[in-house]
Amino acid sequence: MPKNILSFDIEDWFHPEIFDGRFPLEHWIRLESRVEQNTEIILEFLKRKNMTATFFVLGWVAEKYPELIRSIAREGHEIGSHLFSHKMITKMTPDQFQQELERSLQVLRELTQQPVMGFRAPTFSITRKTLWAFPIMYRAGIRYDSSVFPIVHDRYGIPDSPRKPYIIYKDEHSRGGIVEFPMTTLRFGRVNFPLGGGGYFRLYPFWFSRFLMKRCQAEGVPIIFYAHPWEFDKNLPRVDLNFVGKIRHYTGIKKFLERLDRLTDTFEFTSFEKSGMLNAYSLSQ
Ligand SMILES: [Zn+2]
Repeated sequence: MPKNILSFDIEDWFHPEIFDGRFPLEHWIRLESRVEQNTEIILEFLKRKNMTATFFVLGWVAEKYPELIRSIAREGHEIGSHLFSHKMITKMTPDQFQQELERSLQVLRELTQQPVMGFRAPTFSITRKTLWAFPIMYRAGIRYDSSVFPIVHDRYGIPDSPRKPYIIYKDEHSRGGIVEFPMTTLRFGRVNFPLGGGGYFRLYPFWFSRFLMKRCQAEGVPIIFYAHPWEFDKNLPRVDLNFVGKIRHYTGIKKFLERLDRLTDTFEFTSFEKSGMLNAYSLSQ
């Protein structure tokens, strides 16, 4: 049976793309910040369950809350990069991407005194149009990515991506490359159905998520579970969104922790680093 991954994208409540530029970077410093207290909820939960996870941290959060990042690392969790300003890679030039990536890696490596090898793009923005990001990631020391969603979606997705981990980039000069851990999907007929975290986990009834995940396990597809600190926030600030936006963003927030508790009793989860999957899929094998 494959090991499953528990991952958290560490960002504040005003960072998600769904707000569509309503909270520009210049205003962030003046907004109420809730990321620290919400990440503490995650850390306490993991400690109580004796579990290790991967934290893809936004560089902006790391610069603002260095002690939070140090404590995540100190508790044995893996730190990866979630870029710096939460801008989608699809809206960046390669130069902007390189600058943001290097700035985030620099702050994370300094704080943890450890190599940072994992990456998750803001809003899963590795698509067919942003594959140019891989050589830049490789040169910056990234060795695995978990950003590709093999589905059709209005903001992201590579619908025909493999559903199991695979090598997405090989460096011409060295023997190395980057392993992709695609977001979890189940195939029905000719369509991949998303599961495994965030809004999907909040929207589906628990039994349905569990059913989909069991099917994945039977196929040997690891579950790459993802969540955000704001999904644990029982007093999450409400922003006026359209009908679909409200459903996607606010459904199931109050029950999230309880559900994750049940989920982690049902399936075994760990960090990418501790899963053994990085070696299993790397080029040097
Ligand atoms: Zn994010």
